[in-house]
Amino acid sequence: MVALGGTISVPGGARGARLSGAEITAAVPGLAELGVALDVRDVHAVPSGSLTFGQVLDVVELASRAVADGADGVVVTQGTDTLEETAFLADLVWPHEAPFVLTGAMRQPAMAGADGPANVLAAVRVATAPEARGAGALVVLNDEVHAARWVRKTHSTNPATFGSPSAGPLGHVVEGRVRMLLAAPQHEPLKAGPDRERLEATRVALHVVTLDDDGAQLQGLETTHRGLVVAGFGVGHVPGALAPRLGALAEHMPVVLTSRTGSGSVLRHTYHAPGSETDLRRRGLIDGGFLDPFKARVLLRLLLASGAGRDAIAEAFAVRG
Ligand code: GLU
Repeated sequence: MVALGGTISVPGGARGARLSGAEITAAVPGLAELGVALDVRDVHAVPSGSLTFGQVLDVVELASRAVADGADGVVVTQGTDTLEETAFLADLVWPHEAPFVLTGAMRQPAMAGADGPANVLAAVRVATAPEARGAGALVVLNDEVHAARWVRKTHSTNPATFGSPSAGPLGHVVEGRVRMLLAAPQHEPLKAGPDRERLEATRVALHVVTLDDDGAQLQGLETTHRGLVVAGFGVGHVPGALAPRLGALAEHMPVVLTSRTGSGSVLRHTYHAPGSETDLRRRGLIDGGFLDPFKARVLLRLLLASGAGRDAIAEAFAVRG
């Protein structure tokens, strides 16, 4: 188990120091009775908004060594704010059958109805469940099991915030049993891992399209960024006047089209007006499929950092989007 901070570690009140992984696990009723030998590591104690790609990849490497040394599974506790991105990042590089489970809490440990202990207990059950093997990275909160590929944080405060709006949860933890109801998306880590130095130098922008958007924010992007994800309206539309600018950017860098709606995929060939998905694809934009803008940005940055060219990037999005 790797502890990375987040609400699950926030003591509340005037206390300053965060709870360690050992303190978090000590407060979980029933955990000792599971008989799972937990090797708890405190790696970072930060809000999850301060985590970096490099730090998450370091955690994956640490966890990978633990599995190579015999661990049955991995649990990562972290803040919930970026969990949908870190989970997908881990999923893209996790090379093992053993489950890589991320969890956290929406309520601080001292609050009434704190959800951290139940989430840790469920996460440990999933991490050690034969049913969860081979599914890549999973997110377990509120007794639900979500695929990293689909999971979203859908509410700012509700403990039932994690959902998979396009797919539904893969499974549930019921009376302590892990019940997987759906098959996980095929777990296939990227063939080439990211080059760490290149990763640091690889900036990928995310532009959320809005009403009457003139694209001024995109000015000069080709000099500062290596890739762009566009979160378009609905099925992947932008104002007609913005389409030529996106097409021009697509001549310099991969530009991936996603939907800002929160679920569902972009379309490929249903509408034909300027700024439609057909127009944008004709101008060289890559279809992001079902990937939401945040996950598309994670995938694009990893692909660029592993040296993938435009064709390989388009193919990766065709397979994973
Ligand atoms: N919700 C925040 C997060 O995702 C918690 C902030 C904190 O841990 O201070 O990490």
